[in-house]
Amino acid sequence: MPILTETDACREALREQIERARRVLPFTGAGVSTESGIPDFRSPGSAWTRNKPIPFQAFVQSREARIEAWRRKFVMDESFKGAAPSVGHRAIARLIETGRAQEVVTQNIDGLHQAAGVAAERVIELHGNGTFATCLSCGRRYELEPIRLAFVATGEPPACACGGLVKSATISFGQAMPAAEMRRALDAAARADLVLCIGSSLVVYPAAGVPLHGQRNGARLVIVNREPTELDAEADLVLRGEIGALLRDLAAT
Ligand code: NAD
Repeated sequence: MPILTETDACREALREQIERARRVLPFTGAGVSTESGIPDFRSPGSAWTRNKPIPFQAFVQSREARIEAWRRKFVMDESFKGAAPSVGHRAIARLIETGRAQEVVTQNIDGLHQAAGVAAERVIELHGNGTFATCLSCGRRYELEPIRLAFVATGEPPACACGGLVKSATISFGQAMPAAEMRRALDAAARADLVLCIGSSLVVYPAAGVPLHGQRNGARLVIVNREPTELDAEADLVLRGEIGALLRDLAAT
């Protein structure tokens, strides 16, 4: 697979790929949000690597784990609360606005595709959304600020009116993937003729199976990332560099 590293050559190659495509599927990972100030998962020193993630089973079984999960969540939210969409988010929003893409599949939980102007129903979130919470028993939605205020006042993790546990609406390690979102993502990949992976190490499964599913159904696979990814060898083209620099023209068109 060809690997381009020179920024102008990457931009030109990307433009050609998009012009050839009838239906682009952008597939994003944490890398699209680093230029918004939210660290990714695997780059050295990120907050995510300092704290061992709390698995879903621990959250369900242990009150202490729930308290710790909510404590971390509010610390994390405080440091990311000024985050605004990056050039990458804006470029993807443009692809959708101009009809080149119909939807975006994301592993991110930060809501920044929606903040860039993509309608919520066009954002397929494989790992949920961290901007609200839900009851694990009845599914009722809860906003975070009232939960935060009660948590600060009582130190107790939130519980639903139905008695169920309330958890940030993200998918934790060990938690089942959202079946409907996974189905939608695979369908979108099968319909695409270009899957554009942006800022994902492509190591997390089943999410990383989505671009592969697109490729098996005839889509070209193009990877935009500053480091090698797990699927570079499968890709039709790899554009290696910073997302903001590579997608700048797309965001401006
Ligand atoms: P990852 O951290 O495994 O990979 C991110 C990739 O993006 C890395 O290969 C990195 O080199 C690259 N990258 C980072 N900044 C870049 C930039 N400016 N330009 C080019 N490349 C850049 O992320 P992942 O593949 O999404 O998997 C991590 C998991 O953690 C996901 O499942 C996600 O749910 C979760 N997560 C989400 C967020 C978020 O919502 N913003 C942040 C961290 C982790």
